[in-house]
Amino acid sequence: DIAVVGSLNLDLVVPVPHHPVPGETVLGGDLAEHPGGKGANQAVAAARLGGRVAMVGRVGTDAAGERLRSALAREGVDASRVRATDEAPTGRAMIAVDELTGENSIIVSPGANSVLHPEHVAFEGTLLRDARITLLQQEVLPETVEAAVRLAGGTVLLNPAPARELAESVLHMVDVLVPNREELAVLVGQALPDLHAVADAARTLRGPAAVVVTLGQDGALLCEDGAVLLVPAHPVTPVDTTAAGDAFCGALAVRLAEGEPLHEAVRAANTAAALSTTLPGAQPSLPTRAELDKALAR
Ligand code: ADP
Repeated sequence: DIAVVGSLNLDLVVPVPHHPVPGETVLGGDLAEHPGGKGANQAVAAARLGGRVAMVGRVGTDAAGERLRSALAREGVDASRVRATDEAPTGRAMIAVDELTGENSIIVSPGANSVLHPEHVAFEGTLLRDARITLLQQEVLPETVEAAVRLAGGTVLLNPAPARELAESVLHMVDVLVPNREELAVLVGQALPDLHAVADAARTLRGPAAVVVTLGQDGALLCEDGAVLLVPAHPVTPVDTTAAGDAFCGALAVRLAEGEPLHEAVRAANTAAALSTTLPGAQPSLPTRAELDKALAR
């Protein structure tokens, strides 16, 4: 039902007493390794919530790549189209976390994610034509995103993260665009100081049939057919907001694949994302279907 075309990274996380400046060596704590990458995170988010998910992506022919593929498979994601290439090593994100403030600094080495080319996506054309939902992010090449958008036979969800400019021709083929506030600001080329500015930007953005702007603790703003609806956040006490956006996008994909109207799907996505902030880590914090249903019933 859901096809994800996107990135897989191995996240390498080191706690540090402070972030190094150029030329400095900092002694950190013990290294932790976790599966990550926006594509894989969103695929896992959707699978945990009961979606039938297949992912298209690239890893290297190395141990990290094997690990990421089997982590996906363990979550019930069809990883048979995540192929190993010897053109580049598996993507990695090197993440330093300040022990006191929790602030991150991150170096992403995309590796194999940047050798996923349009022809590889075209090779999976049948999957994309038949999928009810095609879910995309921007940790792969722009031309690869464009190829997937063109081939998709169902509803196209694009999470334009990390931010970059997007051709209007691509935006016109997107059904639901899911930026956060900063990504929307990049797309419209202006600062968005308050909710009014966000709503105006979402309403006037040309192309997507609907825009859902994620607003952190303020929830999400849905803009469809010129009408704007603020869907409040599910109240929680967050401990780690890593991958909240990924939880949101995965949940939105599942609920839309099940035929739920967009405003209902946004409410469920807000709740799933809020739950993901109450546990540390990216993929470990993603809620299950039972956890989401319980929170929605409250
Ligand atoms: P990103 O993490 O991609 O920057 P946001 O910060 O907008 O995206 O968060 C994505 C979604 O996660 C929000 O739309 C909201 O549903 C949920 N969320 C994030 N922070 C909180 C919070 N403090 N309380 C409740 N929900 C939150």
